[in-house]
Amino acid sequence: MIKITLPDGSIREMENNSTPMDVAKSISEGFARNVISASFNNETVETTTPLTTDGTLILYTWKDEKGKEAFWHSSAHVLAQTILHFYPNAKLTIGPAIERGFYYDVDFDGETLTESDFAKLEKQFLEFARQKSEFKKHAISKEEALKKYKNENNEFKVELIENLEDGTISFCDHADFTDLCRGGHIPNTGIIKAIKIMSVAGAYWRGDEKNKQLTRVYGISFPKQKDLKEYLALLEEAKQRDHRKLGKELELFTFSAKVGQGLPLWLPKGAALRDRLEQFLKKAQKKAGYEMVITPHIGHKDLYVTSGHYEKYGADSFQPISTPKEGEEYLLKPMNCPHHCEIFNHKPYSYKDLPVRFAEFGTVYRYEQSGELHGLTRVRCFTQDDAHIFCTPEQLDQEFKNVIDLVMYVFSALGFEEFTAQISLRDPENKEKYIGSDENWEKAENAIIKAAADKGLKTVVEYGEAAFYGPKLDFMVKDVLGRSWQLGTIQVDYNLPERFDLNYKGSDNQLHKPVMIHRAPFGSMERFIAILLEHTGGNFPLWLMPEQVILLPISEKYEKYTKKVLNLLENYEIRALVDDRNEKVGRKIRDAEMSKIPYMIIIGEKEEENEQISVRKHKEGDIGTFSVSEFASMIDEEVKKTIKEF
Ligand SMILES: [Zn+2]
Ligand SMILES: [Zn+2]
Repeated sequence: MIKITLPDGSIREMENNSTPMDVAKSISEGFARNVISASFNNETVETTTPLTTDGTLILYTWKDEKGKEAFWHSSAHVLAQTILHFYPNAKLTIGPAIERGFYYDVDFDGETLTESDFAKLEKQFLEFARQKSEFKKHAISKEEALKKYKNENNEFKVELIENLEDGTISFCDHADFTDLCRGGHIPNTGIIKAIKIMSVAGAYWRGDEKNKQLTRVYGISFPKQKDLKEYLALLEEAKQRDHRKLGKELELFTFSAKVGQGLPLWLPKGAALRDRLEQFLKKAQKKAGYEMVITPHIGHKDLYVTSGHYEKYGADSFQPISTPKEGEEYLLKPMNCPHHCEIFNHKPYSYKDLPVRFAEFGTVYRYEQSGELHGLTRVRCFTQDDAHIFCTPEQLDQEFKNVIDLVMYVFSALGFEEFTAQISLRDPENKEKYIGSDENWEKAENAIIKAAADKGLKTVVEYGEAAFYGPKLDFMVKDVLGRSWQLGTIQVDYNLPERFDLNYKGSDNQLHKPVMIHRAPFGSMERFIAILLEHTGGNFPLWLMPEQVILLPISEKYEKYTKKVLNLLENYEIRALVDDRNEKVGRKIRDAEMSKIPYMIIIGEKEEENEQISVRKHKEGDIGTFSVSEFASMIDEEVKKTIKEF
């Protein structure tokens, strides 16, 4: 008998050689029907793998990430089977599960696969799936594996196998199809009930452009047709909310090939919106005791040699700019931290002066390959809402909590209600990988865990995910489509104070190294605005809207009264504009709805006579007649509801 421990701590005595599926059935037949993959002692196993020792077993269903991974990985096998059915000369390379679905990289040997082929692939895929073929993994010797692929002239698989140790190589069979594979499959193909080939793209073998270009076939599969339908509807909604599309429609930003790839140009409305975000954070930061600093956009190469950035990222960065005469070398600033360290170094500090908090909306430049650029989320130039806090180890706890407060304040004002905090700690097995004393690390890690708990954050702890210089906390927000984004970050750093020899005089009159905290609630202005656009679909919170109100006079007869209302609104600092086109008011309302402006004010004879305005709300319609001052206090109240005093 073997003892199997389940995630809830319960222990089941099972016959030796029982499989994970046997364990599932011993729990309940109903549960077993939903189990699609498993891990044993933290290693992926098949649901049919005989278990021969005591251990911890986790059984996964479609609801688990690991379950989806096995589902999509297994689907990649069926996709490969399908491709070979139509293209027997195609050479298979690799086919992993990805965040949403899976792909297979294929050398089609001169033939091409286009969108018009997708339907026939999908149909055949489902036919294969319906055969309910079991996935059977088996070990194979290196020699035998090489022989198979050499016979097939598949140089890709040969290369893969050559890099594997004999004794670790396995294949997975289903129906008459076999593939090199490490494992982690669903029990049989019949569980896959829906498939969609999403796209094809070029992909170099092993991601290296010197290698042969392959065809990457992307797909996604589901256990129910209904799930696929929902997923496609969500994708369509995401397309409508794509920040690149909305950014154009709302005239927020643009790109120009002449200016250069990945360098966003902020249009007047976008610049104003960004400025509102900056002012909002600046105001809260001021209350939280931050001081603004300004630093140049370039820095001497030696600055980044000192910080260690040059050694780590130099080769993958924009290359140094040389001065024409002195032969000095400068780098475009990839981060603000080294500059802020030197600001700290400009004068001696005593423990009584700490904490010091330097904040800057600092623009940084990072090289990204042109293929990686994506709207505002992957750019070559972006502005961080950066700040660095220099404090004593004793102050770390409180400072960390203060930063969490600030981040949560920002999220609530912008309508991000669902978020988790990911806490990244040291790998306890490999402590030598990290800089800084054991004692300080423990202090910092405990400070983060405690601060997050005290603030009631939903947390996930990841061991081994800390930076080499300190632990960190990242905020992951969920948008309305359920997609997860990493936004704000708080990082503790013991490295830069060492490298820049930062000191303060302690109460013992000795010099000590301050602890440094890097933090950015938005992350970067570009990325944040992109995510906010996709989250809100362009319906920003009222306080942030480029235009809050549009005036729609029924005819030009009311031009004078319209002008008067506009002036009054401007006095109340309400952002308004007039649609004075010679159009019917119905048309003006429809266009205003399209432009997402939150309030419409209709002005006609009755309104002018009574010195009032008729108000319509975006998506809701008529909300009544008001005086301008009544309307202004209504707007004011709505703004105050989302943006509270920090
Ligand atoms: Zn596999
Ligand atoms: Zn920093």
